[in-house]
Amino acid sequence: MPPGWLRAPVRVFPAPRRLLSPAACPPRRGPSCFFHSVSAPCAVPRSLRLSPSKYRILAPPFPSIYCAPGFRSSRSDSLRPLTSPPCSFTQSSFLSRLPRSPKGMNLPEVLQVLEQLAPLSLAESWDNVGLLVEPSKPRLIQKILLTNDLTPSVMEEAEAMSCDLIVSYHPPLFKPIKRLIQKDWKQQLAVRAIEAGIAVYSPHTALDSVGDGINDWLVGALGSGCVSVLHQAVSSDPPRHKLEFAVRNREELEAILSELGTGGTDAAFSAARPDGEALSVSLPCPDAALPSVVRTLSRHPTPRQSLSILAVSKPPLLGFGAGRRSTLDEPVSIAAAADRVKAHLGLKHLRLALGAQKTLESTVTTVAVCAGSGGSVLQGVKADLYITGREMSHHEVLDAAAAGTSVILTEHSNSERGFLAVLRERLSQRLADSVSVHLSQEDRDPLEVV
Ligand SMILES: [Zn+2]
Repeated sequence: MPPGWLRAPVRVFPAPRRLLSPAACPPRRGPSCFFHSVSAPCAVPRSLRLSPSKYRILAPPFPSIYCAPGFRSSRSDSLRPLTSPPCSFTQSSFLSRLPRSPKGMNLPEVLQVLEQLAPLSLAESWDNVGLLVEPSKPRLIQKILLTNDLTPSVMEEAEAMSCDLIVSYHPPLFKPIKRLIQKDWKQQLAVRAIEAGIAVYSPHTALDSVGDGINDWLVGALGSGCVSVLHQAVSSDPPRHKLEFAVRNREELEAILSELGTGGTDAAFSAARPDGEALSVSLPCPDAALPSVVRTLSRHPTPRQSLSILAVSKPPLLGFGAGRRSTLDEPVSIAAAADRVKAHLGLKHLRLALGAQKTLESTVTTVAVCAGSGGSVLQGVKADLYITGREMSHHEVLDAAAAGTSVILTEHSNSERGFLAVLRERLSQRLADSVSVHLSQEDRDPLEVV
């Protein structure tokens, strides 16, 4: 589940402008806030709370989220009639400026902002995102350099400007490494970053997936439209089940929950008979706890005979995922589409494959995009035009054209790099004034048309 989302029997409210850091809620014994465990009152100083009598703070993993009073996972709250209000899903889309320092910001504070802009839980499982190089000596972040790829010339640029943090869209460290030596250019760069005390961070596919991220920016090249996600992202919650069973009465339910030690469970029940004696129970259960919970229930005849186990689907994160498809508000010709893509990406050239029976004057009403490597994401998608970086094979392009879909290829990183200016703007708005964010002047696609 990305930061900013909370699934629980609570209402979620936007946090105040002042964003609290985890340090605001130090660990302590006994009841603490959600940052440390799901239990009772918050340890955040009263002076920092939005309204101590009405809210509790939920710090990481859900930074900047507040929940309404009454949210506890204590036993008394775990017995919740089915008539309770449904869970509410609310995204806290705001981001606040962090406390300002005249000398910069700590790395964890900057990382928090980066992860709010593109939650790392959205990244593909094969990816290698997040903080990749962390210098041993903490230093305040004053200069951030944004680049699509961390190359030797970009590293030179970072060193020359005394950069503190490089945000490289592509992860410069991807495959596992067993040594740090000078023979390999990527290992060389990692060593140089460490020696210069420069941290390196990569958002990569988290930035592809997030709503209003790279792919929304790319599909916007052709103008406004009705945009949908090609491959829907789902919550990163661990797998869960729902157990449904009957009990003879509330006392038996209390006894079962006591055996289960359900400090954190959220059982719901309803009367199964008019006299209110027998109860139907619905009990959420994490995947890992399923065997022990079933073992406990099997010791009770009524639950054992009535037990049903249902797999709970992970909720989709609407607007998040790989690739986008847009039905344009105002259709354009293929020639105009190519011109708009060039202007949007700042390119003089791109490659175009016309779909079967299409000309430059044919109309584009639907467009599907995938920044970078779009071959597999776009495969089989119905659209008048595909836009991606490079990795559509010769035969994939032939297949698309035969299906009547025209294809625009921009070269891999040319479909991504322009978004860095958007990212720079968003970071500058959210980081302290003492932190400057720069676009690399050395970063470019390695392929050029000559
Ligand atoms: Zn890429």
